[in-house]
Amino acid sequence: MEHNSSNFIRNIIKEDIETGKRNHVITRFPPEPNGYLHIGHAKSIVINFDLADEFNGKTHLRFDDTNPLKEDSEYVHAIKEDVKWLGYDWDGLFFASDYFQQMYERAVLLIKKGKAYVDDLSPDEIREYRGTLTEPGKDSPYRTRSIEENLDLFERMREGEFENGKKVLRAKIDMSSPNINMRDPVIYRISHATHHNTGDDWCIYPMYAFAHPLEDAIEDVTHSICTTEFEDQRPLYNWIVEECEMTSTPQQIEFGRLNITNAVMSKRKLKQLVDEGFVDGWDDPRMPTISGLRRRGYTPEAIRAFVRETGVSKGSGMVDSQMLDYFVREDLKMKAPRTMGIVRPLKVVITNYPEGQVEMLEAEINPENPEMGTRQIPFSREIYIEQEDFMENPPKKYFRLFPGNEVRLKHAYFIKCEDIIKDEDGNVVEVHCTYDPETKSGSGFTGRKVKGTLHWVEATQAVPAQFRLYEPLLLNEEPETLEEEASADEQVERTFLDQVNPHSLQIFHGFVEPNMKDVKEQDKFQFFRHGYFNVDPKHTTKESLVFNLIVSLKSSFKL
Ligand code: ATP
Ligand code: MG
Ligand code: MG
Repeated sequence: MEHNSSNFIRNIIKEDIETGKRNHVITRFPPEPNGYLHIGHAKSIVINFDLADEFNGKTHLRFDDTNPLKEDSEYVHAIKEDVKWLGYDWDGLFFASDYFQQMYERAVLLIKKGKAYVDDLSPDEIREYRGTLTEPGKDSPYRTRSIEENLDLFERMREGEFENGKKVLRAKIDMSSPNINMRDPVIYRISHATHHNTGDDWCIYPMYAFAHPLEDAIEDVTHSICTTEFEDQRPLYNWIVEECEMTSTPQQIEFGRLNITNAVMSKRKLKQLVDEGFVDGWDDPRMPTISGLRRRGYTPEAIRAFVRETGVSKGSGMVDSQMLDYFVREDLKMKAPRTMGIVRPLKVVITNYPEGQVEMLEAEINPENPEMGTRQIPFSREIYIEQEDFMENPPKKYFRLFPGNEVRLKHAYFIKCEDIIKDEDGNVVEVHCTYDPETKSGSGFTGRKVKGTLHWVEATQAVPAQFRLYEPLLLNEEPETLEEEASADEQVERTFLDQVNPHSLQIFHGFVEPNMKDVKEQDKFQFFRHGYFNVDPKHTTKESLVFNLIVSLKSSFKL
């Protein structure tokens, strides 16, 4: 596997091994199963698996499923599929919920040590008592409850005696700590809810900040890599590992989140797009989810190369989505067969070509990769070209087809426009041309030159196909920043949903070469002059082919 970018986390691990602080490496990827994975998660996956791989370590896939209300086994299934598809094989599959009993026992231990107490304040009161950045917090009146009373109340919480929100268990740390996370954080809450894994066994659930360090320590994770929003939680993480007397001491290390332009990267927001019908599911090809990127036609190789190129640093930057496009073009250049497809068809009749005759022409499958061989394509009196490749009254420097002009048909002949046929409304419905048999492709004809080369598909054998062209789903380059600004200024009522691009999907009905009739879901092609396309796995049927535009051919992006 490739490990090319410089990476401060690697340096930490290297030093830990060299100094003997650690004699093994275990990392983990810990998604909460409350949605589908997105490209930001891919970054975390690549970092964790690559590092373990480099140091002969292990990577766990652990579902951080401590919040029954938002989690579902549909997501567990999808996440496993996405991690595998990205090319990674976990060394152990774990569920945080399998540790609920151990976590409960550690909470009891904290109570017995006088380090945790049951609080009856309401969530609002707890927030109020917590203080602010500039103001210390206030002790809850329940902070001084005896150990015995706390043990009794916590057990009764577990037994279901109290309603949601009536009581919580809090760590007893320091209400005047400059770090608000240390001001007696809530570590258990009551939630009478059915859990996807443990069913109705529990009605109290550990909070993330308490559960996560325990999960890491239980699994003997050495380096617990997360994103920088958890930096302020690190002292609490260490406090919990220590006070719960865990034998293993994982180290939390933070790196900057990946954000890409014109996309939101939070499962909550992505779920909103799905639930409110802006897209056709989590795997809609416009979504920045792994399943969406897969359905669009991005490859695991391209995604891995992209996230590695974005590097590992403390700062979270906005990365241009064109950089991802660059990597998918690089990956498909050698792999994807070339073919011709007409997105917006215009019929061309070649009046001097014998009626009823069809000849087969040879065309290379991939000029960049000659080993892929050649294909046969039919040619006859009737073909389709793109509507935009013909103009009745062209501007200067238009080198495609117009009355009196001659162009080259890729892999075939020169044709010259002689006449046009219009319907009652004056629209051009057919173009009549003549061809010159001398100019056959591959014949070495040098008699005269033409400036335009068009793609085409023979009309009688053409296979109908649907082309789905995409633009960014969100119009604003930084939709999440926009939202933060909006909430700071109540006057501006803009959310990322207002940024949904009404033209993000356009569907066209055209034609492809007859040899395409047996393509399979997820097959990828480069359509000459258009770009790379993927056979859509959701909408393609035996009767109707659907191609998703992955990326167009041109890019201004340079690495
Ligand atoms: P979201 O807000 O999208 O739900 P999350 O951080 O809550 O993201 P988790 O399921 O907890 O999602 O994420 C699993 C792992 O992936 C965590 O370690 C998290 O830090 C990491 N991760 C999530 N989003 C990104 C991102 N944009 N860039 C890098 N890593 C990320
Ligand atoms: Mg999370
Ligand atoms: Mg989240």
